[in-house]
Amino acid sequence: MEVNAVRGMHDLFGDEVHKWLFVEGKITRILSSFGYQEIRTPALEKIDVFSQTVGLQTDIVEKQMYLVKESDTEMLVLRPEGTASFMRAVVEHGLHRSGQAQRYFYYLPMFRHERPQKGRLRQFFQFGAELINDPTPHADVELLFLFNAIYHSLGVTEYETEINSVGCAVCRPKYVEILRAFYKPKAAELCPDCQKRLDRAPLRILDCKNEPCRSFAKEAPLILDHLCQECSSHHQELKVQLQKMGVPFKENPRIVRGLDYYCRTAFEFTSPLLGAQNALGGGGRYDGLSERFGVPAFPAIGWAFGVERLMLALDQKQSPYPPVPKPFAYLAPLGEQAFTYLFNLSLKLKKNGIWVEMSYDKDKKLKGLLKEADRWGAELAIILGDDELNASQAVLRNMNERSQENVALDNLEQEVIRRYQRAP
Ligand code: AMP
Repeated sequence: MEVNAVRGMHDLFGDEVHKWLFVEGKITRILSSFGYQEIRTPALEKIDVFSQTVGLQTDIVEKQMYLVKESDTEMLVLRPEGTASFMRAVVEHGLHRSGQAQRYFYYLPMFRHERPQKGRLRQFFQFGAELINDPTPHADVELLFLFNAIYHSLGVTEYETEINSVGCAVCRPKYVEILRAFYKPKAAELCPDCQKRLDRAPLRILDCKNEPCRSFAKEAPLILDHLCQECSSHHQELKVQLQKMGVPFKENPRIVRGLDYYCRTAFEFTSPLLGAQNALGGGGRYDGLSERFGVPAFPAIGWAFGVERLMLALDQKQSPYPPVPKPFAYLAPLGEQAFTYLFNLSLKLKKNGIWVEMSYDKDKKLKGLLKEADRWGAELAIILGDDELNASQAVLRNMNERSQENVALDNLEQEVIRRYQRAP
């Protein structure tokens, strides 16, 4: 057997985990202070959760889903994105029923069978924030402000926020017809994917990165010129409020987002800190999504960003990470009796929340033990041998200053705790 993780899926360990924990902690604290509560949905969902919501002509549904056979008649899918699963859970548990605004976030791995490259993985983590039951542009502003609060707290400010409106069930169908009429004469020149999109999802042609679709998109009619009155006022008010709240943005009428379920506001965050895969995150409104689960429409808006991409952006910046934690003390027993004493002490200190290290090899000599204390980077070594035991004392050695003092065994635990609490 070849010992490799699945292509595009990575193990996380060592200093990397330390960095991730720091970033996760920061982000979840900010989400909490904005009132977002965590929701964890299962990794597997029924296939309809995505095929009926994200859209049949999307890359995600057409090409990228990992399928798991549940039975001869049922397929399950490893979650490729968070919003559809979130909405399935909201509807299942009636989380929308109060009619009051509700805020949720998720932090979960996503699975997409894509061609792996820098910043593009087959298993990647997303943080997502979702706000349901608030139709106002203020909800949109809050989400965009929240994204900024998170990225700025980590020192990442080099990105652009692009916003658009993709209209609603009233105005979008009319625009789609106009768009189809624009592309029809060019059909033969479109890329094979877009030729298929022309009939069922012409909006998505605007998103295509292939030539000549890209060039055509520059000439295509703009949805902003075809919004209904309600969508237009929502979009105007959003821009006014963003300005008032000091949230920088750029209007980009070609952003449609890849997925079917968006309506009105759609946005993307892109950063020059990333390479070819320059999207930090994106999101938008999905007011009607619940209808696909058989429940009348209610307002909803959210975003998601990829954590691996955030980490790549952070690698380009001065490190925001605190030093890698080290054990506070290294326990060095010399002899059987001392070993039992220090083994007991080590367990008590750990239970008190103090990380100490000790080797369970009883034959080590003092020199070897002190070398190990240095290797761990411990501030303190606690040395206990027969002589010390007879005198009911232990030696505390300051590993940085190389100074030593004796402490009575009766006070040893308290003394270590005291020093730990005083340590910077
Ligand atoms: P999407 O759901 O495609 O709009 O993706 C939202 C965000 O998730 C993107 O902006 C990226 O930060 C991240 N992302 C999407 N696909 C991948 C991937 N294959 N590998 C790593 N991150 C991804």
